[in-house]
Amino acid sequence: MVYLDNNATTPVDPMVCEKMSQFLKTHFGNPSSLYPIGREVKEIITESREVIAKALGAKRSEIVFTGSGTEADNFAIRGVMDALPDKDEFVTSSIEHPAIIETANYLEKKGKKVSYVPVDPSGTVNLDFLKNAITSRTAIVSIMHANNEIGTIQPIEEIVRIAKKKGILVHTDAVQSFGKINILVNKLGVDLLSISAHKLYGPKGIGALYVRKGTPIQPLICGGHQERLMRAGTENTAGIVGFGEAVRLLLERGDKDKKVVSRLAERLKKGIEEKIHNVKFNGHETNRIKGTINYSFFGLEAEAILLSLATKDIYVSTGSACSEDSEEASHVLSAIGLRPEVARSSVRMSLGRFNTEEDVDVVLSELPEIVEKLRAISGLNPDDF
Ligand SMILES: *Cc1c(COP(=O)(O)O)cnc(C)c1O
Repeated sequence: MVYLDNNATTPVDPMVCEKMSQFLKTHFGNPSSLYPIGREVKEIITESREVIAKALGAKRSEIVFTGSGTEADNFAIRGVMDALPDKDEFVTSSIEHPAIIETANYLEKKGKKVSYVPVDPSGTVNLDFLKNAITSRTAIVSIMHANNEIGTIQPIEEIVRIAKKKGILVHTDAVQSFGKINILVNKLGVDLLSISAHKLYGPKGIGALYVRKGTPIQPLICGGHQERLMRAGTENTAGIVGFGEAVRLLLERGDKDKKVVSRLAERLKKGIEEKIHNVKFNGHETNRIKGTINYSFFGLEAEAILLSLATKDIYVSTGSACSEDSEEASHVLSAIGLRPEVARSSVRMSLGRFNTEEDVDVVLSELPEIVEKLRAISGLNPDDF
């Protein structure tokens, strides 16, 4: 199998599996219980929180575990809007993950004003538009760190400078960048930042929100006293253990994964451009998470390419996993200016820790033939696009 869909989810690292299964076999206590088997689990959770805080350059008390990256995004935006009832405006971008876009739609239904900052053809947000969109009624600005479909990295430090001049809070969805770019919350300057374990070789169903000390925020989920009253519900203890181990591995491996992924992706990119005509690279050439490569194959439907590759045991994506069942073109590719038929011809390949040179060889030997065959069937002239 050649798995090139690491932006949708990553395989769980064997070390993470081992750590989680050992934990599940030996610890069932409720971390809120006062007797030893509960206290032990509470301590183990604290260790995970410590590792994650350390990786982000944050304090342990600033990390709130959530049920997913999606929940962290919802919590950040709705939590701050709820805490600042006098402010009724939200500023975000036109290329956010559905977790933010749908939260924005929800806010609009509730009568709030949402501004969507447009992006240029590389997928980078327009800072002049952003400047004008922020008003004294803005509660929070949320711009993603790295885009999941095209990989473009946003100038978060610059965005923070603009927002801070007006005293406005900033959130960034770093689900796709954490583990691929070194992130220090104080360097970025953000007040809130979302991450998720299953995008960095940890388990699914566990995320976290970094909340800078002093940030006004209301909980999304009410109940018990877990997570310093910020997120009620008995903790996903095994998930938290796996998340902590996944982040510990990131720190231990340093730049190893980044180097390998970037070299493999570069070779794949060069190979595609050499062997296949009438393709268009989408995203920023240099300022992007290097393992994400997105190409439009003029004249084709991406789904046909995806399914043909799947018969060869090669797995790619047509964009965000969440929109795979939709006929509509990706909102990200539309936002960078692709016409619907070009957007619908676009395939995302996202590499990760477990990919090899051989994987790239396999794709470069199968893909050109698939594209050629499908183009012959479609009868469209790719030169017309
Ligand atoms: C995957 C992803 C999410 C959602 O995280 P889940 O843990 O799957 O809910 C949010 N934002 C971005 C950019 C993502 O890539």
